Amino acid sequence: MVVDKKASPQAIHLRGVALPGDAVLDLWVDGDRVSHEAIPGAETVMHGGWLLPGLVDVHTHPGADSPGDPLDDDLLRRDAEAHRDSGVTLIRAPGAAGRLPAWFGDDPDLPRVRSAGPWLATEKGFFPGWGRRESLETLPDAAVEEAQASGGWCKVIADWSFDDEPVRRYGPTVPPDVLQEIVRRVHAIGGRVAVHSQHEDGCSAAVLAGADSLEHGMHLRLDLLDRMAEQGMVLVPTMCAFSGTKSSLRQHPPEPDAWGRWKSIGWERHPNLVRCAYEAGVAILAGTDGAAGIIADEVDCLVAAGVPGDVAVGGASWTARSWLGFGGLEHGAPADIVGYDEDPRDHPGVLRHPARIILRGRVVR
Ligand SMILES: [Zn+2]
Repeated sequence: MVVDKKASPQAIHLRGVALPGDAVLDLWVDGDRVSHEAIPGAETVMHGGWLLPGLVDVHTHPGADSPGDPLDDDLLRRDAEAHRDSGVTLIRAPGAAGRLPAWFGDDPDLPRVRSAGPWLATEKGFFPGWGRRESLETLPDAAVEEAQASGGWCKVIADWSFDDEPVRRYGPTVPPDVLQEIVRRVHAIGGRVAVHSQHEDGCSAAVLAGADSLEHGMHLRLDLLDRMAEQGMVLVPTMCAFSGTKSSLRQHPPEPDAWGRWKSIGWERHPNLVRCAYEAGVAILAGTDGAAGIIADEVDCLVAAGVPGDVAVGGASWTARSWLGFGGLEHGAPADIVGYDEDPRDHPGVLRHPARIILRGRVVR
């Protein structure tokens, strides 16, 4: 039977090299679905160039600027708009000042959202007044609760505290057995666990516990990378958030104490860690942990660290989408598409200049 497909007024057509492949494809969009079948009457909005599944920032905290600030609805919207206008059509928020409001993520004009609810920290952990604080005894229950409330993810701060003593400030706050209990309980309900760590012991505990993502990962032992790859645990190195650290350390050399060494060694070895993680087969995803709309900066940092261009761009697009349960450009996928005049795998800088942005089936640019 031949179905007579009539285009709705907003149906569109795009032609270009469809990444991550190299084939030129014709894509149609009607409503929030990609179609590989022609929709007669659809308006052509891109002809030539490169087409990517909508970009992803897997580590961003919209809606509050400074530690301790409550979530602000206007700022949430502005941050989401900045993401969208940079080509980011999906964000993961691993931690927020509170649970993100229901409208955020449902708004048809704003990117899709995977939230992990508020940061989960011990009583003295993380920044004062931010996130949800629990005792070590109640942390696993809270993790299950937040994963359920947010639709799957929770985020645990495994080190970093506001202890007055600098050495303790950056040490682990959640012991390995508690982290294991959190991961076991959250996985049992089908949820996933993101772990913040910038300390060797916290990183080791996160890997050994079998968490789903390691956020930052400074000081991670290289001999744990094979295990990470085997477990399918991803690394979100948030490199651009720390890109200024090296030059500031040169201008203001750290004290030659344990804290100073921790800081300088962590940043110095981070690019090498990222490259080794790539070589070990660990999936590396792009998360900015900074201002909304700067995902291209993170891709630049990944490439500068030695990650191949196609892998770095994939970490901000198709690899990240598939990891978060969204499709790419296949028939029937959610209709988030970005178009560029150059191949971003060879010219990552072009990510700053999207020629087209399609969000949820609608032309944004
Ligand atoms: Zn963060």
